[in-house]
Amino acid sequence: MTVGRFAPSPSGRIHLGNILCCLLAWLSARQKGGRVVLRIEDLDTARCPRRYAEQMIEDLRWLGLFWDEGPEAGGSGGPFFQSQRTDLYQAALKRLEAMGLVYPCFCTRAELHASSAPHREDGQVVYAGTCRSLSPAQAAEKARLRPPALRLRVPDKEYRFTDGHMGLYGEHLDRDCGDFLLRRSDGMFAYQLAVVVDDAAMGVTEVVRGADLLSSTPRQLYLYELLGLTPPLFLHFPLLLAPDGRRLSKRNADAGLDTLQGRVSAEELLGRLAWLAGFNPSSRPRSAQSLLQDFSWEKVPQADIRLPENLFG
Ligand code: GLU
Repeated sequence: MTVGRFAPSPSGRIHLGNILCCLLAWLSARQKGGRVVLRIEDLDTARCPRRYAEQMIEDLRWLGLFWDEGPEAGGSGGPFFQSQRTDLYQAALKRLEAMGLVYPCFCTRAELHASSAPHREDGQVVYAGTCRSLSPAQAAEKARLRPPALRLRVPDKEYRFTDGHMGLYGEHLDRDCGDFLLRRSDGMFAYQLAVVVDDAAMGVTEVVRGADLLSSTPRQLYLYELLGLTPPLFLHFPLLLAPDGRRLSKRNADAGLDTLQGRVSAEELLGRLAWLAGFNPSSRPRSAQSLLQDFSWEKVPQADIRLPENLFG
């Protein structure tokens, strides 16, 4: 049985990018007769207060994108807020530590972003391995001054997979990524660890998300391997761009539900979005349910989708 999921980070009001993500995840799972889980990715509790999560839950309902397991619906995979699942992340971390693959890192942000550090396409930095070979005594000395972050050693190996939408993708972890964070110095678990632990624990078989996370997938596949878990099918979809060609962000207030909800109905919004993403033959209003008959991954482009000015003109 297919199990899809929505995994929004409620750091603000839902916008067209998140809505397209949830719509695609919902259609893709439902079309196969599958179930959908809603998990709230609020690891960063300062940026994701509970009221935003509550608003997001209400917004998804308004859009008609219902879930089978998650907040309010319940289900055996809960709790469905990442902020309540830290003991699971801690247990996974312990297992990785027992394999001798985790080490403390004392590098500051400024050190990491030093001009000589190679930068990845996604803006992150390839970690140079500065703290990789600290002796226990050196680490203990440094820990007196500053709590460490924890990093996972990566192998000198390429992790490749076939994305269900984007095709073959791979990264050489050592060269293209470097040892990556499992826990920040303030104790917050990293997205990479939490998402793998949760998708596996919740029985997710299909992960639909934006192409900005394509480059996270090789790291996640490495974690699946280390933890002895079966990875899901990954389907990454093209990003929505603002009319000026830049990534959608909070700057684009007109793409947020805050602005849109009073002006358009849920069906108008979904119909227009589905048309832009290639699976509504016209821009006419559609319910999520009615789009099930038209949706197929082949119709969705691979290239980013630029929003027109005045989408709802
Ligand atoms: N919480 C992430 C986001 O909202 C999505 C993570 C994922 O789908 O793996 O961007």
